[in-house]
Amino acid sequence: MGLFSSFFSKSLSADLTVTSGNGFHLRPVAQFVSAAKKYPCRISASFNGKEVNAKGLNSLLGLSLEQGDTFTITCKGKKAEQALQALTETFTSLMHKDTEVSMIEKESASYEGFVITGEIIYEGIAIAPLYHYKEEHFHRKTKLSFKEACKKSSEELDSLYESQRVKENASIYLAQKELLISLKEESDSLEAFKEKIETFTALLLGTKLESKITDYKDILQRVEKHLGIETKMVFPESAFILVADDLLPSQIEQLLDSAVSAVILGKTSLNSHTAILLRAEGIPSLIADSSSLTENTPVILDGYAGLIVTNPRDKDFQKAKQRLEADRKILDKAREKRFEPALTKEGKVIKVLANVTDVISAKQAKEEGAEGIGLLRTEFLFKEEKPTFEMQVTSYKKIFDVFDDITVRTLDVGGDKALPYIDLPKEENPFLGIRGIRLLDTHPEIIEEQLHAIFTAADTKAIRVMFPMVSTVEEFTKAKQFAEKTAAKYKVDISNILFGIMIEVPSVLFLMDKFNEVVDFYSIGTNDLTQYLFAVERTHPTLKTNDLSPVVFNAIQELVERSDKPVSICGELAGNTKAIPTLLQIGIKTLSVSAKTIAQTKETIRNV
Ligand code: PEP
Ligand code: MG
Repeated sequence: MGLFSSFFSKSLSADLTVTSGNGFHLRPVAQFVSAAKKYPCRISASFNGKEVNAKGLNSLLGLSLEQGDTFTITCKGKKAEQALQALTETFTSLMHKDTEVSMIEKESASYEGFVITGEIIYEGIAIAPLYHYKEEHFHRKTKLSFKEACKKSSEELDSLYESQRVKENASIYLAQKELLISLKEESDSLEAFKEKIETFTALLLGTKLESKITDYKDILQRVEKHLGIETKMVFPESAFILVADDLLPSQIEQLLDSAVSAVILGKTSLNSHTAILLRAEGIPSLIADSSSLTENTPVILDGYAGLIVTNPRDKDFQKAKQRLEADRKILDKAREKRFEPALTKEGKVIKVLANVTDVISAKQAKEEGAEGIGLLRTEFLFKEEKPTFEMQVTSYKKIFDVFDDITVRTLDVGGDKALPYIDLPKEENPFLGIRGIRLLDTHPEIIEEQLHAIFTAADTKAIRVMFPMVSTVEEFTKAKQFAEKTAAKYKVDISNILFGIMIEVPSVLFLMDKFNEVVDFYSIGTNDLTQYLFAVERTHPTLKTNDLSPVVFNAIQELVERSDKPVSICGELAGNTKAIPTLLQIGIKTLSVSAKTIAQTKETIRNV
């Protein structure tokens, strides 16, 4: 980085070099732009004789900066010095943290049939006919204007962002939202919006950022959908290997409802958002050019060797089937035993519960072998409109009916979670502000209605109710008294209900003796506990904490030792196969994890 200033123009500049092998791509650019927007001065970026506004995501992305490129940022006007310094630091940190997905080492394999080589996105074997991408278009009447469609799309991206528990996946939706905001600012009709997208995507063609073109297309499809123009993929009913030039990140969700066995993409990159999501969903996939191959031909996709066997011989099929079988056995072993209790080698029984958001995820969790609900995140139940009391009772009842063992958490709004019908104050540091149980002071009527609905739905069933973000004993006592008053007001018997807290705030650690006197149980929320232990915002774009830090394990150990009530863990750490052995050693007897990881969590426990 070089720093220089011009006295006469009162502008300050710095040279920044792209060090990440991924280039200066959508996600870091989105984060850089949002940092730049915080300063009042004019900020521009220039490269190769072209100067653009560095507060505009599209313009900055349009520079197509790749690894090794050096560009200049110039800040002019009020707070130019602070802006330049902060942005230089932001950029350096973004480059430093932007890890390149390394190529998966290929296994060697030999086949008798003709093979096409590809790059591995996600490993696995598939044997199925090829199927070339097809789509259908639907037109519906809608009264939404272009601006309203953009607003709806932006809200949709917001809730997609909130529903992702994996940071990497969540940042995709955040970046797309920034992109949408920036495109919307520059266009006032769908036509203008489309034109902008065409211009920007043309600039990315042939560059290392080409794979991000799908993000632009994804945004366009999302806006068009709200304007009544919908595009849907068409799939065969039986197993198939999908061949496409590329897929939009949002199409991966559609794919999950199909019989897809594997995916071959011609034009994506290992770092594209589509590739990230294919990996997250565990779909065997390759980057390879197979557009010329005939549809319906059965092929072998060997995602370990990075090969497509286009005319497999009998021996090839045999070999692939054997590998497929071996893979299946490992998975099946875990899945087959998913309904069995999880016992450690010493014979200790560990309860494996699920984190769910609604009745669908509760039923999925049951199907995956969960033994109950360890955390019902109620804030995701009604995302659009304020539910009535009756709607809440119906929903809770349906969920409570799925299992005997139920822990429901009262609304945890605030921080990074917002609901359109709950007005929260604008805060400088929302993670340290009105959040979780603190809503009892600002929105008591909402908590009262929720508690009344939970009590009514539970009827005589024994359930646990827990309060989020509790930091003092008084907060818990006040919440419990509030619950008791609510029950008395509506004449409901709550002798069947236990009350506990989420341990997310480190202060609880120093108050355990007092908490032991009043709570019935604890559930450790390691996601927030880690954020508050390290003072690193859990959604921070560049700062990251080490999930497996001894600090977190020491805190959990301390909590377990000082508690005389049951302690479970419901943060992401509970499903981390590397953390489970230590958690069990510490003495944790209940883990609450996402539905998808239940079989694997149980199998990990069995090997401890
Ligand atoms: C946690 O903080 O670990 C937790 C489980 O709660 P959430 O992720 O919903 O904040
Ligand atoms: Mg939390």
